Amino acid sequence: MADERQTNQPLAVKIFGKSDSARAYAIRDFLHRGDVPFEWVELHTGDQARQIGVDGPTDQRLPVCIFPDGTRMECPTIRQISEKLGWIRDPSRTEYDLAIYGAEPAGLSAAVYGASEGLKTVVIERLMVGGQAGTSTKIENYLGFPEGISGAELAKRAREQASRFGAEILMLREGVRGEFQPGKGIGYLADGTKIIAHATICATGVTYRRLNLPNEEGFRGVGVYYGAGASEASLCVNDHVFVVGGGNSAGQAVMHFSRYARKVTMVIRGDGLKETLSQYLIDRILASPRVEVLAHTEVTALHGDQVLRAITLTNNQTGQQQTIDTRWLFLCLGGVPHTEWAAAAGVARDSDGYLVTGPDLQLNGGRMKSWPLERAPFYLESNVPGLFAAGDVRHGSVKRCASAVGEGAMAVTFAHRYLSHP
Ligand SMILES: Cc1cc2nc3c(=O)[nH]c(=O)nc-3n(C[C@H](O)[C@H](O)[C@H](O)COP(=O)(O)OP(=O)(O)OC[C@H]3O[C@@H](n4cnc5c(N)ncnc54)[C@H](O)[C@@H]3O)c2cc1C
Repeated sequence: MADERQTNQPLAVKIFGKSDSARAYAIRDFLHRGDVPFEWVELHTGDQARQIGVDGPTDQRLPVCIFPDGTRMECPTIRQISEKLGWIRDPSRTEYDLAIYGAEPAGLSAAVYGASEGLKTVVIERLMVGGQAGTSTKIENYLGFPEGISGAELAKRAREQASRFGAEILMLREGVRGEFQPGKGIGYLADGTKIIAHATICATGVTYRRLNLPNEEGFRGVGVYYGAGASEASLCVNDHVFVVGGGNSAGQAVMHFSRYARKVTMVIRGDGLKETLSQYLIDRILASPRVEVLAHTEVTALHGDQVLRAITLTNNQTGQQQTIDTRWLFLCLGGVPHTEWAAAAGVARDSDGYLVTGPDLQLNGGRMKSWPLERAPFYLESNVPGLFAAGDVRHGSVKRCASAVGEGAMAVTFAHRYLSHP
């Protein structure tokens, strides 16, 4: 094998383990999203296992990670790996101008603009940079990247840019509670840390709903996809693709995949498409020879090894089951916003849990009861002055990277206005 130093390739973390190891998958997924180069070495024999100092491919010490500096870790947690990569740090200040929750397109954009415009900025991320967008293999509709860019690469660049301007990024820290007073927001993190800031931006996005099948997480990104990343479509040529969901996003995905795939099956729980889908999409779906719609149907089992190989569909009226080979299952079941903390903090949410901001706070053109100031709320401001929402977490937001980035930048402008006249 060529010396990585000579080829100018970044040195990779080597991960040794068995393909069906959930821990190994989690590590690969984590490193991929963080854009950390790694090499996956699958162990098949006792000899291979002994070469890296364990008894066999089923040894409990697997997976083993070996870092470029020679450090060896047996069955490490994500936190231990993050610590090793130097990604875990404590806040350097007792008070910030701007605290941002969520380090993805919206949060990182806010961090770049906030820090570059002189605000003492901290970003709190419950996982790591590269959350939702990090799961996208290629974002092709983001301005300035005609060849497309992977979500992980985009997140890595944004993280570097934000850090270069002086934003502090605290990873593997989760905001769980907030208290807001005029000119001061206090965020309580799951590990007990307290973050005080004069203005706060919530950019905590959404998590796509799951089927909640026992082995679902293991197939994430290797057969099971959340949302319908447009970029995946061209990889489905000649394959049979399944899209679960009856809403417009599922309908659009079905039509998109039908341009590439041999066959697209739309799986819906209810009667038919009429109640959930726009008429123009219904017309196209029904007219497409490559699309079939299975009503009253649910995905009840996933089968495969390290990748998805087949799914079981169950008719929820007759109980009849069929298992069909496929490598592609796209779940368009809508998103769940991360706003559990908002209720206790008196922050307005819509019926689906999204944060309501700006003009949407004014019911029927009137003034909202809980808005305390004479001035109207800024466009991205919640009903709590000084608390802003940007990106997918916001009621009415467009679920796109570019929109999230735009809202992150806008939220900083409004934060400036708030900071100059709280
Ligand atoms: C598979 C897939 C493919 C996609 N493809 C495209 C595409 O091609 N083009 C496009 O424009 N868009 C695409 N999207 C949509 C796009 O990724 C989202 O619109 C965008 O990521 C929204 O950014 P965001 O910053 O608002 O939220 P998110 O990306 O959801 O990020 C929110 C972040 O907040 C963190 N967080 C959540 N709760 C907390 C908490 N309590 N404390 C601290 N941190 C928290 C999360 O861990 C996450 O990192 C795709 C999405 C998916 C899932």
